[in-house]
Amino acid sequence: MNKYINISKNFLKKRPQDITLKLDSEFIYLPLSTTSKILFNPGKVLKKETIIAMNSTNIPLITPVSGVFLGIKEMPNYENKNIKTLVIKNNYKEETNKKIASKRNLSKYSKEVILLIIQRLNIKTNKDKNLFQEIDREPKKIYINALCDEVNNYNNEFRLLHNKDLILETISALNTIFNLEESDLLIKDTSSEVISVYKEFLGSFPNINLHLIKDVYPISRYEVLSKYLLLNNKDLVINLEDIYKLGYALKRQRFVTEKLLTISGPVVLDPHIYELKIGTKLSEILNINEIKEKYDIWINNYLEQNKLLMDDLIIDDNVNALIITDKNLSLPKPCNNCGICYTSCPIGLNPKKLDQKEINEKCLKCGLCSYMCPCNILIHKKEVEIHE
Ligand code: SF4
Ligand code: SF4
Repeated sequence: MNKYINISKNFLKKRPQDITLKLDSEFIYLPLSTTSKILFNPGKVLKKETIIAMNSTNIPLITPVSGVFLGIKEMPNYENKNIKTLVIKNNYKEETNKKIASKRNLSKYSKEVILLIIQRLNIKTNKDKNLFQEIDREPKKIYINALCDEVNNYNNEFRLLHNKDLILETISALNTIFNLEESDLLIKDTSSEVISVYKEFLGSFPNINLHLIKDVYPISRYEVLSKYLLLNNKDLVINLEDIYKLGYALKRQRFVTEKLLTISGPVVLDPHIYELKIGTKLSEILNINEIKEKYDIWINNYLEQNKLLMDDLIIDDNVNALIITDKNLSLPKPCNNCGICYTSCPIGLNPKKLDQKEINEKCLKCGLCSYMCPCNILIHKKEVEIHE
């Protein structure tokens, strides 16, 4: 049974030209976890990178701009839910507490210090475990996941091209400090520009392999990737963006306060990758209501079918791409029992049984079954009744 599906790219328009800086948000909204303790009162003027709140496991919430802390406001998140956020009004001064010289050689960090930084950054492995615990269990190898399942999302490709030195130096430092034999950088076999650039530079990093992965959906998910690569329990998979955040913190001794957001899709004539302050609201970049009158906006991945339903959206670490399509691309018809949804599920579930709790809990919500369904039924969303 073929479990690897090559997604048609016929709704792909074109690749963005470059990263567009959009760092002048007037207000920043930082999602607050239920266990967080706020460390300042409203009205306080804060410098950039101040720890404004701390959760119960000592993970800090950092202000990405300098400005006035206005208080708490409910704002929409990537799950179309209103959540509590801390609001900061940007004073555009970009004042920071400290200026520390860049670290020249990342391999000189001690294991203890690097573990503390990994813990502070709350970096997870693809098994959703804490990296600072997993990496201390002496893995032989780490895999850097630079794969992305949404064909219109170019964040990883641009991150790899724009921050090549920092990424390679960080992976190499992890290899040295944690005595790893080697590490694999996982890149799709269709990313020709990235492949040619990295092939040229990897000669200086003999313990980093360029590992090309078949461009199939949804290969970036740990559940699919681990079977494809035959990973064992000791193998660690770390997302590319986390390697970048770690490298940035080690090199500059500061937190990353910006993030990448791709806005693309079949109706977007001029796709963009924006570099934004974390916590920017989408309405500062797009005229959402005007777009929603004619088009649908999908959060992160078109196949997952997570449509933007609210009037705004906070761009935090959970939002990486927005795909804009025509409304109602195709209307559903009754199920014809063809079984394609079942044979296409990458982890062997029967999507027609997703109403059973134990099956639903295993589902990746990747949307491949719905994409493959000839009757356009959104099986994984259960929005349409399936007629037997
Ligand atoms: S059942 Fe779940 S895991 Fe399987 S294809 Fe559908 S959404 Fe993906
Ligand atoms: S839900 Fe769609 S893919 Fe699955 S059996 Fe019915 S028609 Fe076929």
